[in-house]
Amino acid sequence: MPRPSLAFPRLVGFTLAPLKPAFLIFALSAALAGAATPEAPKLLLDDNVVPQRYRLDLTLVPGDDTFRGSIEIDVRVVKPTGLIWLNSQDLNIRAVSWRAGGGNMTPALTAEQHGFIGLEFDRPVSGEATVSFDYSGTIGLHSNAGIFALNEDGETYIYSMFETSDARRAFPCFDQPEFKTPWQITLHVPRTASAFANSPQESETPESGAMKAVRFRESKPLPSYLVAFAAGRFETVDAGRVGHAPLRIIVPRGHTAAAGFAAKSIPQLLAIEEKYFGRPYPYEKLDSLVMPISNFAMENAGLITYSQSLLLADPADDNIERQRECALVTAHEMAHQWFGDLVTTRWWDDVWLNEAFATWMERKIVGEWKPEWHFDVVGVDSRLSSMDLDSLVSARRIVQPIESDSDIANAFDDITYEKGSAVLRMFEAYTGPERFRRGVQLYLQRYEWRAATTEEFLSAVSEGAGVDIAPAFRTFLDQTGVPLVTMELNCSGARPLVHLSQKRSLPIGAPQAPSQVWQIPVSIRYRAGARDRNLRALITTEHRDLPLPGGACPVWLLGNDNADGYYRVHYGGDLPDRLFSARGPRLSAAERVSELGNALALVDTGDVAPASALALVSRFAGDPNHDVVEQAMDIAGILERPDVPGDLRPSAARFIGEAFGARAEKLGWAANSGDDEETRLLRARLVPFVAGDGGDRRLIDGAASLARRWLKDRAGVEPDLVQPALEVAAQFGDRDLWDTIHRQAIAEKDPAIQERLLRALGSFRDPTLAEASLQLLLKHEFDARVTFRPLLAGPLDYPETWDLPFAFVSGHLDELLSGLPREVGNDYASEFPETGKVFCDAGGRRDVDDFFRDRVKNYSGGERILRQTLETIDTCIARRKALQSGIAEFLRSH
Ligand SMILES: [Zn+2]
Repeated sequence: MPRPSLAFPRLVGFTLAPLKPAFLIFALSAALAGAATPEAPKLLLDDNVVPQRYRLDLTLVPGDDTFRGSIEIDVRVVKPTGLIWLNSQDLNIRAVSWRAGGGNMTPALTAEQHGFIGLEFDRPVSGEATVSFDYSGTIGLHSNAGIFALNEDGETYIYSMFETSDARRAFPCFDQPEFKTPWQITLHVPRTASAFANSPQESETPESGAMKAVRFRESKPLPSYLVAFAAGRFETVDAGRVGHAPLRIIVPRGHTAAAGFAAKSIPQLLAIEEKYFGRPYPYEKLDSLVMPISNFAMENAGLITYSQSLLLADPADDNIERQRECALVTAHEMAHQWFGDLVTTRWWDDVWLNEAFATWMERKIVGEWKPEWHFDVVGVDSRLSSMDLDSLVSARRIVQPIESDSDIANAFDDITYEKGSAVLRMFEAYTGPERFRRGVQLYLQRYEWRAATTEEFLSAVSEGAGVDIAPAFRTFLDQTGVPLVTMELNCSGARPLVHLSQKRSLPIGAPQAPSQVWQIPVSIRYRAGARDRNLRALITTEHRDLPLPGGACPVWLLGNDNADGYYRVHYGGDLPDRLFSARGPRLSAAERVSELGNALALVDTGDVAPASALALVSRFAGDPNHDVVEQAMDIAGILERPDVPGDLRPSAARFIGEAFGARAEKLGWAANSGDDEETRLLRARLVPFVAGDGGDRRLIDGAASLARRWLKDRAGVEPDLVQPALEVAAQFGDRDLWDTIHRQAIAEKDPAIQERLLRALGSFRDPTLAEASLQLLLKHEFDARVTFRPLLAGPLDYPETWDLPFAFVSGHLDELLSGLPREVGNDYASEFPETGKVFCDAGGRRDVDDFFRDRVKNYSGGERILRQTLETIDTCIARRKALQSGIAEFLRSH
């Protein structure tokens, strides 16, 4: 699914308030005749009518703002009925007919009700039949959902995007993932355009009016949300073949040279996935289709769509961050071809089966492709962030019942993607990777071309792996929260023991929650006698004593061996000191990240003093792995949060300078020819941190001069450093710089470069200039689909500007709503409450609550986001009370 880019400033998911229907539905219907209109289902179609096969025919002309369509659906009606519901939204249906047993009928059509239409028959129908519709619909010019158009360099391209519930905007259908059928698609497009769909082209026939009909082979069984097509004057790049399947990259005109990295990496990654799944890629071909839009990818079967900045890069301008992101996202979307496409989640409450799995796979696959990229560490880093979200009382469960469209919108959050992925990693480690893989393969074999549920997944994996993981796994799927496992050594008896106890990890000030127990696969490493030992156990009760074999009392103990566990560890006694002492264990990079993140999390639960965590910063500031250094930077970030008084900020900057300054200065803004990727990544992250957060004058000046050089002629700057230098320059930049970036962003044709410029516009710390950037959201100089996130979320990063986005949203809500694009999955508007997450006082909390309480009811998914925002503010207020003196004391003593 649209997977937010890791490198992007992120509110959470995003989408737009459903626009008012562009035109009314002219129902041929009972409603007009004055009869009582039957009431549509709330959310789900019943399974009395089962679609068997679709034949879809669409006329798509780039430049038009409407399209024409006809569709024939073969259905089976199980029990006789006089009323059949299906999905259709904002379509103008001209004719409907019902064909069965050699006869034709014309059912009456009800008015559309929230995406449903009903067919009313004079007498009950049953058995096999074909229902046909002639209709027209709109091509969205400001939306990314349904059928929509995008412009690139003066050329218009038409795309589709249907997950979760937007196929009904393109054709009447049974729009639920459990209904998987073959689709035969024919597109009528101008002769100058090319057309693409899920399957290979079967024929091309000239038609009148300089048009042609492109017919595609009937597809394998697909749910409606995975149907996809595109039309326009694209160009294609051959990316070879994996097994039987030819691979192509399809790009907007003039961009074939930028597809080099993708054309090389995609076949290699796909081949590794085939090997893991032990079965060939399921479809006849794989096209990777580029959209000139930011931050977007969708796993349509055989026709995956990606944003241009993810998939394409001018070779002279490419950088390693983008290449890593490109590899991860392509591996993710391709993993969906098995997990999501070949086997589909039956309903959206189980969407973790798609998303958690693809997220877990992306790191595994890229990790095998490029072991030197350390993607096991990236997984740990993401686990730590998802644990922060999961610590909130208002967090979702991984498997959360879906009772409304809002619940569907919320289902695509970090709990689904990242907690789900982390829990998969934990149980893979528990069964052993080979056994787990056998379980995954059995699941795919058993449910191929069909839909499946969580229950079916757990039982197939358990059977294939030969270990019943279902009961333990369920404790992580069906309850919210992160387990906090306290570990205490007891060497007073005959044999050394570790005493374990579990409870839910909650932030300081959180309301008392009922006690919870998980079945946790705990993995411990410790040193006893002359060697390191491992101990694994499934902890199923609140308290448990585990004997530690080896005779002697352990010298040290690591509570989350290999960083695979989804739990936090509260070490008793002097275990933390022993862990980080010279006589402590040799920790892998993943373990160092995990333990630093653990210490930071325990500051927020009140279990570790800020000073103890902050003491780790200097220790790990010189670490060879950039992810570890970033974790140390995150701990230093304690000093910059909204709960820390503003007058302590200069001391915080000094601390950051002292801890990281020498290393950042040494790295500087210029790459050396011999630098390895680790060094280049570290430079791109540490140097802007010390410049921006440490206020290092020399590095700030360096950024300003790099930015000027790049803005002058787009040359002379290391590609890795363009974005960080622009953002630091903007943080300390003046009106003149703002004007230059603004002017260039308007003129820029390349969406990837425009995205950089917009992110720079979102980084100005001068409140007047930050406000000027926010005002751009009300103007029409840019496509709102590309400005919305960088401009609104950017100011939340800096104390000088972090209260501006809420003031802006609350001051201009109606104007903002009227210009918002509609996007997949959920509402852009639902994320407005998040602009309040930086408040840390009762007044700010009240303002956010008062403003949004009633309004979020209209934003799909908005109510939960408001609850989470308010809880974040409450936590901040409680933390301020509990930690402020400790932090002040720490800074004074430095
Ligand atoms: Zn996905």
